[in-house]
Amino acid sequence: MRTKGKLRLCNDGECPCLQIWTANHPVAAAESGEWGDSYPAIRLVGKSSFDMKAEPYIEHIYYGEIPLNIATADARHLVACWNAVEDAGGDPATLQAENKRLREALERLVSMKALATPKERSSEVKVRAIFARAALGKESA
Ligand SMILES: [Zn+2]
Repeated sequence: MRTKGKLRLCNDGECPCLQIWTANHPVAAAESGEWGDSYPAIRLVGKSSFDMKAEPYIEHIYYGEIPLNIATADARHLVACWNAVEDAGGDPATLQAENKRLREALERLVSMKALATPKERSSEVKVRAIFARAALGKESA
């Protein structure tokens, strides 16, 4: 069970929070900036044993940094993948099966081209262009 429907980025990806939302609530946020681990720790503070005390603090270990433009592109990609599954009926297996069917159809067309005469090849190129436009969801011209 999961939330149904398409996702969107907070303020269409213009907001640096990079939260990913369903219609009603956030489900994730893409990481940007420094990333790593944070954990609570204790340190001793003071100038001498007379005024020394234990102080809690948060320790950070940074492993790297993700530029905001990369994080934004990553967030858009995640949303597009989720929404592609929604367009395919909400089942990732359905989308994968459709992708497999299209890939096999394209491979058949490419192998037809290898076997065709020059005249046949020129018509096959037109068929392939129409097929590619259809695969991209655009009107065939
Ligand atoms: Zn935001």
